[in-house]
Amino acid sequence: MPPTDRVTDNAMDKLVSLAKRRGFVFQSSEIYGGLGSVWDYGPLGVELKKNIKERWWRSMVHEREDIEGLDAAILMHPKVWEASGHVAGFTDPLVDCKHCKNRFRADDPRIKGTPGEPTAQCPVCGSKGTLTAPRMFNLMFKTFMGPVEDQAALVYLRPETAQGIYVNYLNVLQSSRQKVPFGIAQIGKAFRNEITPGNFIFRTREFEQMEMQFFVKPGTDLEWFEFWRHERMQWLTQLGVRSEKLRFHQHTKDELAHYAKDAYDIQYEFPFGWQEFEGIHNRTNFDLSRHQEFSGKKLEYLDPATNERFIPYVVETSAGADRTALVVMLDAYSEEEVAGEKRVVLRFHPTLAPLKAAVFPLVNKDGMPELARRIFDDVRKHVNAFYDDGGSIGRRYRRQDEAGTPYGITIDGQSVADGTVTVRDRDTLKQERVAADRLADYLAGKLRG
Ligand code: ATP
Repeated sequence: MPPTDRVTDNAMDKLVSLAKRRGFVFQSSEIYGGLGSVWDYGPLGVELKKNIKERWWRSMVHEREDIEGLDAAILMHPKVWEASGHVAGFTDPLVDCKHCKNRFRADDPRIKGTPGEPTAQCPVCGSKGTLTAPRMFNLMFKTFMGPVEDQAALVYLRPETAQGIYVNYLNVLQSSRQKVPFGIAQIGKAFRNEITPGNFIFRTREFEQMEMQFFVKPGTDLEWFEFWRHERMQWLTQLGVRSEKLRFHQHTKDELAHYAKDAYDIQYEFPFGWQEFEGIHNRTNFDLSRHQEFSGKKLEYLDPATNERFIPYVVETSAGADRTALVVMLDAYSEEEVAGEKRVVLRFHPTLAPLKAAVFPLVNKDGMPELARRIFDDVRKHVNAFYDDGGSIGRRYRRQDEAGTPYGITIDGQSVADGTVTVRDRDTLKQERVAADRLADYLAGKLRG
């Protein structure tokens, strides 16, 4: 299957090429020509995404008493997706061009005219009257459980992680002894057979979500909704994403899911325009009510303080780990001139950077490599670090700038004499002399946060 990316912008081209060159992201099954809009994370990419997920988990689960973690299976009972509305309604209107065989979402802004009518024009080949009328296409991947491919064994690859949380709401509530209001957080894979995936890892067919469902008493939902909206925005700015590149977009009546009371997207200004990468949704009691109805199991909450029974409302924060990684990479990317030379630098927040430090012997003699190795062995007990003794020191710095490594530790002649090393700051380019036996503390202080 050919890749279907629509990378047209220069900034995206540069990032995609850097991502491949430096081992952040590769196309899936590349040696076979790639698989449409499925991507693999290389050595640096897996660290970056893991750091994003860890920061999310820490702020959601570890730093809050009222949120519990969960890891539900990807495969779930097929009735889950009937109750959630995905079997009937998780569809996009699809349009085909009979001439060039390209596929579009019917709402693709590039289409001129009404698909199905003789005057409609294909945005790719320009033919008139060759676009089919829209057909509904379900985005869920299907597979079969057990050896016989019959209808009874049909299961879906989950298109979102949220449902795994709803169906476990009682299990978590009872086993954790939480009380409403409380939340459940989960990170995991989701799959959508997108009609028009693309823009690198922005819209893919397999991706990871970081979702948190917060269960509240009806009537307190507006307050919690506001709370979570601001909390999530703050989380992003604390991770160094430039606030002028972030904005809220409130869903209009047309955009709002039929069950939702209110919804805001957090958008980033991508090179291809302002687009969502996280959503905060007031989902009312729709999901739990539907699961109660379809499963026949009572999902009410008995408020111990008032003896009231109610089905909690849900405020959801739903982010894509891959889209967030794209935001972080685009936001960090910068090109600048240093001493007449161009340097490409990824200005990652140090806690997100795949490598925290790189260790360089200035030259490969005079005891420097031996000392550098010892220092490297010590540093990497504390943080993810890299050893590089190839090429001039300037080139080694440039390589780490491109990887987004915040600290470069150089072992020089003085190091051998007095046990100090220089630490170069990726952003300010300032160098400090630090005693080698204080390096672990020094880095820990810098990386705290
Ligand atoms: P879109 O309108 O872009 O398809 P959505 O509104 O369907 O997104 P949600 O269902 O709210 O998205 O999913 C929450 C988050 O999951 C999104 O903000 C995004 O970060 C991520 N996400 C959804 N679909 C994809 C995808 N195909 N590829 C990568 N990430 C995705």
